[in-house]
Amino acid sequence: MAKKRKVETDSIRIQTPVSRQREHSVPLYMTSGFTFESAEHARALFANELEGNVYSRYSNPNTDEFIKKICTLEGAESGVATASGMAAIFVTLAGLLKQGDHILASRSLFGSSHQILSQVLPRWGISFTYADIHNTESWESLIQENTRMLFLETPSNPGLDLIDLAWAGKLAKAHNLIYAVDNCFATPCLQRPIEFGADIVQHSATKFIDGQGRAIGGVIAGREEFIEDLRFFARHTGPAMSPFNAWLFSKSLETLPVRMDRHCDNAEIIADFLGDHKKVNYVKYPFHKDHPQKSLARKQMKRGGGVVCFEIDGGYEKSKLFIDRIEMLSRSANLGDTRTIVTHPASTTHSKLSDEEREAVGITPGLIRIAVGLENSDDILLDIEQALSY
Ligand code: PLP
Repeated sequence: MAKKRKVETDSIRIQTPVSRQREHSVPLYMTSGFTFESAEHARALFANELEGNVYSRYSNPNTDEFIKKICTLEGAESGVATASGMAAIFVTLAGLLKQGDHILASRSLFGSSHQILSQVLPRWGISFTYADIHNTESWESLIQENTRMLFLETPSNPGLDLIDLAWAGKLAKAHNLIYAVDNCFATPCLQRPIEFGADIVQHSATKFIDGQGRAIGGVIAGREEFIEDLRFFARHTGPAMSPFNAWLFSKSLETLPVRMDRHCDNAEIIADFLGDHKKVNYVKYPFHKDHPQKSLARKQMKRGGGVVCFEIDGGYEKSKLFIDRIEMLSRSANLGDTRTIVTHPASTTHSKLSDEEREAVGITPGLIRIAVGLENSDDILLDIEQALSY
């Protein structure tokens, strides 16, 4: 049997077969539809008797290549590409659940995931309960008779708290729950939730997968028994990824392992610097010596990722001062870019939560998120250092 190829090789070598042009780099198939050789060919394609492309809302060579790469990297059977990371999350929840179902969700989720759970799904009779990331003993007691899904994010945005993926997998299995993990922060280069029992993994491809801050996209990868339903849901409700974005993301995956290493190298340096700074109350980074879950991080992640957060001494006033004093780094709400980005989550990405909800997940007025980029770490440090010199 052929030896299994390494992630770095698969992210480059999985490719749509070459066309008659014998191109080396896969071209962009910017077409909404595909043609049929004959009436019989069209009938057979629609009857699923033949494999082939019909219409780019259903499938496209660029989208298929992107899905194939992600599935290989995540160790998943199959996948669906979506127009955004939020579409990936919405499609997973709405495509698998029905009226009367209940979701057990980690409280430490991205802001818009909270909005889907609390504002959108209840309109269709799908309810949820939050489980506290720091009190996992209580999770089992929160499972109801109608609980169908366990949904979590680890490391969490922005607090970088972790959930034991293997433990959650056992819990999900014992209660027959669909186990879904938002793996956006780690990427499959650093963490593969399916190896710990996850049924479904979601990504915002907008973040590290693109890695260059150019395009919005998402992807779901997992067990075919669930992906089959999600493919049906996405095909008919239409949150498809554009071929152009799929082409970009697929090319980006070729450099993901190299970029993630550099993001991690830089993030470790920034976390060490902030951890020792007198104007910083605490730093959070999964592999940092002060992270309360650093041994769990080492158990389930290869490295700590490209995001660091810290609490500045002096609350919102000093956070604003720090952010306004930044010179080279970018003030933005995105993450996973080549350019280092500073964000104040309480007033931006998580501003729609109530004060109590933010407090429950550690998003204090002094919390700052740094999405560490690929610049030389000396220059990133210089800017952070001068911005803290008030
Ligand atoms: N999940 C996480 C953890 C995120 O950080 C984000 C965006 O920041 C999303 C999902 C949503 O992704 P998108 O902006 O591509 O819809």
